[in-house]
Amino acid sequence: MKNVFVLGSTGSIGVNTLNVIRNFPEHFKVSALTVNTNTTLLLEQVNEFKPGWVVVKNKEAAINLENQLPAGCKLLVGTAGLITAASEIDYDIFLGAMVGYAGLAPTMEAIKRGKRIALANKETLVVAGEVVKNYCEKYGAEIIPVDSEHSAIYQCLVGENITDVEKLIITASGGPFFNKDKSFFDHATVEEALNHPNWEMGNKITIDSATMMNKGLEVIEARWLFGLPTNKIDVVIHPQSIIHSMVQFRDGSIKAQMGLPDMKLPIQYALTYPERFENKFERTDLAAIGTLSFYEPDFEKFECLKLAFDVLEIGGTAPCVLNAANEIAVEKFLNKEIKFSTIPVLIEKTLAKIGNHQSPNLDTIFACDLETREFVRKLN
Ligand code: MG
Repeated sequence: MKNVFVLGSTGSIGVNTLNVIRNFPEHFKVSALTVNTNTTLLLEQVNEFKPGWVVVKNKEAAINLENQLPAGCKLLVGTAGLITAASEIDYDIFLGAMVGYAGLAPTMEAIKRGKRIALANKETLVVAGEVVKNYCEKYGAEIIPVDSEHSAIYQCLVGENITDVEKLIITASGGPFFNKDKSFFDHATVEEALNHPNWEMGNKITIDSATMMNKGLEVIEARWLFGLPTNKIDVVIHPQSIIHSMVQFRDGSIKAQMGLPDMKLPIQYALTYPERFENKFERTDLAAIGTLSFYEPDFEKFECLKLAFDVLEIGGTAPCVLNAANEIAVEKFLNKEIKFSTIPVLIEKTLAKIGNHQSPNLDTIFACDLETREFVRKLN
C-alpha cells in the first residue's frame, strides 16, 4: 500500500489522479489533498478518499472549511501550509499536479525527503532544472514524469542505455491554431485559443498549446529529465496525438509509445512504475484511427517554441525568465488585456531586459522569478 500526496487535486491532472487511485484501493491511499480555491470539490474528494490532511493555498477560500471537514482530517493554509505538508506529512509518492511556478517550492520539499515524485508540474524542471537534478541525486529522490510526452520517452527508454540515444522526438498536436495563418494571431479570441482539438486541460496549459509554448516548456523539461543536450531533442507535429513521443537510437531504430490522449495512462504509469497494472481504460483502435501524420513545426509562426529553444541555449536563469514572462502574458491574454500575437512579444522584450545568472541556486531563481513578474506586469 502506497500513500499518495496529491498537490493540486481539483485541476484536470488531480482529478484524473483520483480517478486512477479509485481503481486500485488495495494499492493506493490518499494521504493529503491540496487545492488553490476549489473547496467544494475538495470536500467531495475528502469524503471519498479520506486523507489525513488537506491544504488550501488561498486563505479566503479556507475560511469556514475547518468545521466542514470530517474528524481526523486536518487543515493547513497558504503557501506555508503547502511547504509544511510536503515536508512533514507521511507519504510515499508525491504527485505534483499544481499548475505554474508555485508548484516548485513544495516539490523541492518532497525531493529533499527522497520521495518518488510523479511530476506533472513542468515549471519545476523548466525554471530550476539543474538545481532539481542536483537535489534528486543528493537526496535520492526519483522523478517519474506524468506529462504524456515525457512518460512516453521514459517508457521507450526502459531497458535501454541513455548513451545509445541519438535523439528524442517529442510529438506536438499543433494545438487549435495549427492550420491558421500567422495573421490570424492578431485577432484570435480567448475562446478560440481555449478550444483544443485533442486534450481536455486547464486554461493556462491550453493557451500554452495554442502558442506552442507548451511544447517549448516540454523541450526544456526533457533536457533536464533525460540529461540530453538541446541538439538531441526534436519536435514533430502529429495532429492525432496517438504517438505520445519517440526515441531514436544510434542504430537508426525508433521506438514510439502510443495510446489514446488520456492522462490517466501516464498518471497510472508514474504511480505503478516499474510495474504495470491492468485497467479498464478505453483501448486504442488503430484501424479506426486509420492515419497517423507528421509535419515539421513552424518556428516562424510559433515564436514561443523558438524562444524556448533559445533560452535553453542561453541557460542560467533565462528559462526562469521565459516561464515567468509567459505566465503573466497568458494571464493578460486570458483577461483580454493583450492580443494573442502579443504573448511572444512580451516574452522577448522581457528576455532582453532581465539580466541572466549562470548556475543559479534556488534563491537566485526565486528572486529572478519575482523581478520578471513585476517587469512583465507593467508591459502591454
Ligand atoms: Mg504534454
